[in-house]
Amino acid sequence: MSRTVAVIGLGHMGAPMAASLVKAGHRVRGHDLVPEALDGAARAGVEPAASAAEAVADAETVVTMLPTGGHVLGLYDTVLAAARPGTLFVDCSTIDVADARTAHERAVAAGMRALDAPVSGGVAGAEAATLTFMAGGPEAEFAEARPLLEAMGRKVVHCGGPGAGQAAKICNNMILGVSMIAVSEAFVLGESLGLSHQALYDVASTASGQCWALTANCPVPGPVPASPANRDYRPGFAAALMAKDLGLAADAARAGGVRAELGFRAADLYATYAERVGTGEDFSGIVRTIRDRSGD
Ligand code: NAD
Repeated sequence: MSRTVAVIGLGHMGAPMAASLVKAGHRVRGHDLVPEALDGAARAGVEPAASAAEAVADAETVVTMLPTGGHVLGLYDTVLAAARPGTLFVDCSTIDVADARTAHERAVAAGMRALDAPVSGGVAGAEAATLTFMAGGPEAEFAEARPLLEAMGRKVVHCGGPGAGQAAKICNNMILGVSMIAVSEAFVLGESLGLSHQALYDVASTASGQCWALTANCPVPGPVPASPANRDYRPGFAAALMAKDLGLAADAARAGGVRAELGFRAADLYATYAERVGTGEDFSGIVRTIRDRSGD
């Protein structure tokens, strides 16, 4: 069934997600602060709106894809007053769990309904509509959002109540960040022991060291031809985004008194590395930092 959907935030992720909704037959009204983003989305069939308030005015569902929790809460101040009562707000940005819960509360207090639904899969996943969505919020809101999420992704998981989607996202990415460092350190250790990358890969990929960081996003060139290491670490999943997600996980761990020793260390290492490379390098490029620092 066709719906009227507002998409706010038409950046790397939001633009292709809005395009997927258009392709699935929905009427999509889009808004972004950057005029070029609006023009690009218009070429994909999105109806450009001059303001966020205008975009949400007659929407049944509002999808937000913004950089941080501050952006989401700031935007909600405006749009919750402009939307029709009962509108479903689906925030797909990766933000702090506490901010996600605040966003839910504000939406409900304003007579709206809300779901957090961050994604995994990156820009390529958004373009191919193969994202994984992890949702947090009431069952009815999840059921209503599901067809829209399925138009933008391949897998949709209901993780629990408000904030549960964000919780799943940062826990997953903490596993990923820590495991990428572990895999990178193992390759550098192997190098110092005279072990070839291929030999370590052939063993670890079918032994107990097996993980996604090794078999899908292998940090050294050769064993996995599609991994960013084979194209000089062009992203992929940018180092700066991994640093952001690990920072969110570390903050949540501290707030909850969780002794996530490796998570804290991974957040520090990625923060330092991302300061240098920003969004220009895939997060697997941290192997070069580990190798360079090993000579010290
Ligand atoms: P981006 O910076 O490319 O896009 C964000 C867009 O939001 C920008 O175009 C910006 O102009 C717009 N924006 C900011 N404030 C606004 C406002 N008040 N009103 C309207 N537009 C506004 O970021 P992105 O890469 O698309 O990421 C978006 C979110 O998705 C982030 O939370 C990120 O962590 C998450 N994410 C990104 C990836 C990825 O690979 N890029 C993967 C998974 C999750």
